[in-house]
Amino acid sequence: WHAMSMSIMLVVVHLFIPNSFVNATAVSIATTLVFSLLAIHVGALSVSDTLTMTMLLVLVNTVGIIAAHRYQCLGRRQFRAQSILRHLSFRDHLTGCYNRRYMEEHLLEQEVERASRYPAWLTVIMCDLDHFKVINDTYGHPTGDVVLQHFAGLLRAACRDHIDSVVRYGGEEFMLILPETDLRGGVRLAERLRRAIADEPAYRDERRAISVTASFGVVAADFSVAGMGGDPRTLITRADELLYRAKSAGRDRVESDEFARAPMVA
Ligand code: GH3
Ligand code: MG
Ligand code: MG
Repeated sequence: WHAMSMSIMLVVVHLFIPNSFVNATAVSIATTLVFSLLAIHVGALSVSDTLTMTMLLVLVNTVGIIAAHRYQCLGRRQFRAQSILRHLSFRDHLTGCYNRRYMEEHLLEQEVERASRYPAWLTVIMCDLDHFKVINDTYGHPTGDVVLQHFAGLLRAACRDHIDSVVRYGGEEFMLILPETDLRGGVRLAERLRRAIADEPAYRDERRAISVTASFGVVAADFSVAGMGGDPRTLITRADELLYRAKSAGRDRVESDEFARAPMVA
């Protein structure tokens, strides 16, 4: 009877000591050995009883180890699948930037709220590669993808970790959200990025080097101005207008504006 209760306890040790397969196995094997030695010395068991009890304990330990191992593998697979799903739900798979849905549902509203609370400046930059369709048409989509990844890499490298956000807004259009950044800071960053993308080939192999340019629309809002509040979408709309002004003015340019006096109204 003691050996049977012991077996049940061992199964419990294997299955319910969470995330510690090695510890559970060590605990149960040590317990089995101590219990067997005690039973042999104190219990004065017959040879066949000792054999039966030992076999029962070995069997329970083996089943417990197998079950615990499977249980742990399953847990690990579930954790990995959940991390991938979480990552896919807010990142774009080609560039690793935040996706537009995450920006619309969380990011921008959260940053506007934070800027209103402090209150502080908030800058939004919209940027778009110039004549990108020509790159796809001339060199093919896989090369276009590499150019996009290069551009996204430049944007991400220029931003502050855990403060600024880079969003893939559409095909080859990206959006930067820069908290506590005024118009001067936003324009300086956009100019730096404009030069960086133009100066260095975005794709290079043995036969060719492909260079691209990009256009930028920068809008900064000063949330310390009374009544600034407003709708986050107003920032996007204005940044988009400025981007298209940069396109019409010849591309490879930065256009900017600020909401520093008039209240932001959608
Ligand atoms: P503009 O200077 O006016 O921005 O001209 P554009 O050619 O860059 O703009 P347009 O909107 O005509 O073309 C955008 C192209 O971007 C068309 C589309 O095939 C391409 N594109 C969108 N998403 C992807 C992608 O994920 N990979 C690749 N390779 N191309 C993409
Ligand atoms: Mg474009
Ligand atoms: Mg575009």
